Amino acid sequence: MEDNNRGCVKCGSTDAEQKEVAMSGTGLSKMFDVQNNQFLVVSCKNCGYSEFYNKKSSAGSNIIDFFLG
Ligand SMILES: [Zn+2]
Repeated sequence: MEDNNRGCVKCGSTDAEQKEVAMSGTGLSKMFDVQNNQFLVVSCKNCGYSEFYNKKSSAGSNIIDFFLG
């Protein structure tokens, strides 16, 4: 294991994009607090792998850096 290896967990690409999404209504809103239904999605542009982050808990941090490890 090498901690200095950055990139997508699936393919190792460092080409990622960030999107902001809001989830409301049924489904996920039942699992999360309704006031916390703002999410950031980081997607690997190479393979499409995506991770969801709670916007509130990730405020102030660079979420793409988090995705890339
Ligand atoms: Zn990837």
